[in-house]
Amino acid sequence: MGQYKEKNCPTCGTTHRKQGQYCSRSCGNSRTHTHKSRKNISEKITQHWQTAEANDQREKLSAQGKLQLKKIHNKSDEDLQEMTLDDFMVDPQIDDMPQGQFRAGGDLWTEVD
Ligand SMILES: [Zn+2]
Repeated sequence: MGQYKEKNCPTCGTTHRKQGQYCSRSCGNSRTHTHKSRKNISEKITQHWQTAEANDQREKLSAQGKLQLKKIHNKSDEDLQEMTLDDFMVDPQIDDMPQGQFRAGGDLWTEVD
């Protein structure tokens, strides 16, 4: 049985002789997403928003978004009535968000079951 060559973990810098580049599973998981996987995730999220189940979520987020606009940006009810759901739901951006969180409409959201 050959030994793996000594190397440094790219995440934490620890010297190790394990298989693969990373010293531990958690270091391996924390690697930054490649351009391709980012694109895949963003496609998944886009698909998610098109499902019926996501529609409920949109309604909820929209209600939250309106409340925020009212509280933070002092929008009036008339202003809000003229806005559509799509004003809140700009393209989500993936930015190494922790699981269950995503960005939409310039805000950080946490998914609630
Ligand atoms: Zn490590």
